[in-house]
Amino acid sequence: MKIITSIFDLNKEIKNFKNVGFVPTMGGIHNGHISLIKASQKKNKETIVSIFVNPTQFNKASDFKKYPRDIKKDILTLKKLKVNYLFLPTTKDIYKFKARKFVLRKKDKILCAKFRKGHFEGVLNVMNRLMSIVKSKDLFMGEKDYQQLQLIRRFLSKKFEVRINACPTIRTVDKIALSTRNKLLNKKSLEKASHIAKLLIKIKKRTKLRSSKFKVDLSDYKKELEKKFNIKIDYLEFRDEKNLKLNNFKNKFRLFVAYNINKIRLIDNF
Ligand code: AMP
Repeated sequence: MKIITSIFDLNKEIKNFKNVGFVPTMGGIHNGHISLIKASQKKNKETIVSIFVNPTQFNKASDFKKYPRDIKKDILTLKKLKVNYLFLPTTKDIYKFKARKFVLRKKDKILCAKFRKGHFEGVLNVMNRLMSIVKSKDLFMGEKDYQQLQLIRRFLSKKFEVRINACPTIRTVDKIALSTRNKLLNKKSLEKASHIAKLLIKIKKRTKLRSSKFKVDLSDYKKELEKKFNIKIDYLEFRDEKNLKLNNFKNKFRLFVAYNINKIRLIDNF
C-alpha cells in the first residue's frame, strides 16, 4: 500500500488509472468502512481510501477535537486489506484551492441538516474537493449516513459523472450500527444503544405491515425512549427512501433517528 500525503503526489500516481474506486473516510477504520473497501475491490482494479477528519463539517470545535483518531492502527488494517493507496491529505492542502460552495435548499434542511447547522455544507465542500482531486468514476458510501448519501447523489454525482455505490449498514451482533464515534461510548451507553436499535427495528417491522399511505405519529415513542434511556432524541421520523419526504410514501420508507447519549451524538436508520 502506498501512503500519499500530497495532492501533487496523488495526481502523479493515479493520472493514468481509469478503473479506480474511491472510499472517503474520517478514519477509525471499522467493519463498516471495510465493507465499502471490499465492494470497491470487487468492482475496481485499484482502490483509494482517504482518511481526513474534515474540520468544516463539525459544527462544534469540541466535537472535532474529541473525534477518535488512530492512524497507526488504520494503516495496519488497510495494509492487511491490500488497499492500493491511502490518501492522507493535510487540511492546508485540501483547502488551498478555490472551489464552489454549496448551499442547501429549504427542503434539504431536515433531519441532521436541521440540527447540525453547516454540517452538510462542510461535507459537500470537502467531497467536492476530494472528488476533484481523485476523479474516480466509482465512489463507495454507506447507507448508515443516508442523508449524506442522498445529498452527495443530488449535488455531486452529475458534476463528476460518478457512480455512487451505496453499501448497507454494518451492525454488531447487538444491532448497533458501527461508527467511529462508538469508541467514545462506555459499556452502559453501548448497552442502551443496542436496546434502542432493537426497539427501532421492531417499530419499523410493525409499521411495514400497514399500508404505505399512512401518517405515523412517533411522538409517544420518542418520549418513551427519552425517558427510559435518559437520552435526548433530535428526531425520530419515517421518511420516504428516495425523496426523504414525510408521510404519504411513494417508495419504500425508512425510520431515521438521531440522539444524544452521554453527550455523544449517534445517528441511524432502519
Ligand atoms: P466516516 O469515516 O464515518 O465518515 O464514514 C466513511 C464512510 O463509511 C461513509 O460513506 C459512511 O457512510 C460509511 N460507513 C460508516 N459507518 C458505516 C457502517 N456501519 N456501515 C456501512 N457504512 C458505514
